[in-house]
Amino acid sequence: MSNIFDRLSTSSPINRGAGVAVGARGVHYEPKLDNSRVTLDAPPRMRPVPHDAPDLIGLQFGRFRVVGLSAELNGRWVVRCVCGKYEFRTARAIRGEHAELDKCSYCQHLDHLKYHDHVQQFGAARASAMQNEDRARSMAAK
Ligand SMILES: [Zn+2]
Repeated sequence: MSNIFDRLSTSSPINRGAGVAVGARGVHYEPKLDNSRVTLDAPPRMRPVPHDAPDLIGLQFGRFRVVGLSAELNGRWVVRCVCGKYEFRTARAIRGEHAELDKCSYCQHLDHLKYHDHVQQFGAARASAMQNEDRARSMAAK
């Protein structure tokens, strides 16, 4: 006769919370992101950088690295986030004053979740302070 743990491990979780607790396969989590930005899993088509344009390939800013010039979107550079997602940025955004804090929509969403979790755990004042520390750390890391 099989023991209770064997039977539990082969049965499906009774609900979503139980599924998370036992590490069972659950529903894939896909965050609702603001659709103003295009975020891609695979690199989009790129074109050679014209001779009269500044070559930004290889440049790092925020969590991004510039990987090429978009073939479809005029004046948009293809940037790759440390998490592996691809987005588009203008040269102005890459060189802008907020560039060092830039990240893809997914990373931004995770930061947002982290902040709200900290608000619940430590209160708004401490959560804001922790967020500022994180930002200062990523600025200093450059
Ligand atoms: Zn990212």
